[in-house]
Amino acid sequence: MFDIKIVGGKIYNGTLAPGFVADIGIKIDKIEAIGDLSQSESHELVDARGLAVSPGFIDIHSHSDFSVLVNPKAESKVRQGVTTEVIGNCGMSAAPLIGKCKEHLKETYANYNLEMPWEDLRGYIDQVKKGGVAVNLVPLIGHGNIRACVLGYENKPPTAAQMEKMKELLRAQLKQGAFGMSTGLIYPPGTYATTDELVELAKVVEEFQGIYASHMRSEGAGLIEAIKEAIFVGERSNVSVQISHLKTSGESHWGKLSEAFALIEGAIQRGVDVAVDRYPYIASSTDLDSILPASLYAGGNEKELERLRDPQIVEKLSSEFLHMNDKDWNRVMVATVATDANRKYEGLTIYEISQMKKIPPVKVLVDLLVSEKLKVGAVFFGMSEENLRLILKKPYAMIGSDSSARAHYGILASGKPHPRGYGTFPRVLGKYVKDKVVSLEEAVHKMTQLPARKMGIEKRGVIEQGMYADLVLFDPLTVDDTATYQHPHQYPLGIKMVIVAGEVVIRDGSHTGALPGKVLRKVYA
Ligand SMILES: [Zn+2]
Repeated sequence: MFDIKIVGGKIYNGTLAPGFVADIGIKIDKIEAIGDLSQSESHELVDARGLAVSPGFIDIHSHSDFSVLVNPKAESKVRQGVTTEVIGNCGMSAAPLIGKCKEHLKETYANYNLEMPWEDLRGYIDQVKKGGVAVNLVPLIGHGNIRACVLGYENKPPTAAQMEKMKELLRAQLKQGAFGMSTGLIYPPGTYATTDELVELAKVVEEFQGIYASHMRSEGAGLIEAIKEAIFVGERSNVSVQISHLKTSGESHWGKLSEAFALIEGAIQRGVDVAVDRYPYIASSTDLDSILPASLYAGGNEKELERLRDPQIVEKLSSEFLHMNDKDWNRVMVATVATDANRKYEGLTIYEISQMKKIPPVKVLVDLLVSEKLKVGAVFFGMSEENLRLILKKPYAMIGSDSSARAHYGILASGKPHPRGYGTFPRVLGKYVKDKVVSLEEAVHKMTQLPARKMGIEKRGVIEQGMYADLVLFDPLTVDDTATYQHPHQYPLGIKMVIVAGEVVIRDGSHTGALPGKVLRKVYA
């Protein structure tokens, strides 16, 4: 007797094997049988004829650390078929959370109104348990947290004692089950770290066979040097490297892709475990102030705001942006603001606002950042479609949304966030499979077995007897994203059913309210 029997679907099991028609029997939280199960009884029968059945998708690059505490249903992710999210990317995680780091993240997520009583990963796991969660979470530890907990947001190197403290703090989180460390080397305080500091910390990650995921120091002008640094950190510490959201940012850097591939593939040949992830869009999204020169950030938000209020500094800033013409400013879209006064600018580019207000783009930028106290999310249109396709084709490329879970209601429905938070996985299965950039088997593999192996996630990522019943049923003919830059809060098409650990979370496009997920802990030998 099965709890759920899925009959007649075409199974794409995650391994690159061609799809095959078979039934799947689920008992409690595991896959109990695969094959012709017509003779077996079950409590629930799911007719999957005409549908594809695959392992639940693993979003290897997610930022849902805090948003799942606001809304544990993880709506915009699970409705894409995502059943596991790797959180704590780009140097920023929910744990550890002490001192200046806690102050900063409370400020960053002020609109979420969260208590944040925890200090370490164990505390965060307890917090998630209290509210429950629809999907599984795989935690990475942000290097930015480690550094900010010990040194704050100052641009200075750690003393020997501080370095030891950072290592201890990281080691403690890894012992509690983290899967590795992430860096965000364009953001403070990650940007202040030397390569040596990263190697020292990666050596601690190695003790636990974790991974090193990096939002690199540059994705445009310094892309090649940045890739070399990421590989160097992995090679020196003997840690597996994940290059986050690989891209060639800015038209003048599009030509660098083949050199980037050569570096990565050369490292793979030397035996370094290097892989990349990518979202299927050609615009990026991050804080608007990331466009400013790094000298403006040092010392934290208050110091940054002080500088932006200083007319002399702002005057100098205009000359820093001489390389940006109207076309470039029209590629920077204001996505999210915090105050109602500036709400009307959401969805408009800096160029469009400057035309409306008849003031120069740099003034628009500074005015917005000052009046919003830096809390402006932006979308930057700077990538090449051709390069995106070349990246998706690589056997070491996985799919990551680079987004937190959102919802069509409540606080998570605010602003115009990048549509990738709603559309990443269906967009690959729809647009990029139809365009023959990848086959359906390859697409599923990049979302399932490949990231499960990379992260060391056990018993997930493949449809096999004994594996957890994390499954997605989708219509391969209609699956597609619907979220756009102007109207991002829209769920995809074609995702019929999503099951997490044997419990149905999405049925006929609706969330059942089930919260069967949990924070997974790394098991190391
Ligand atoms: Zn990033």
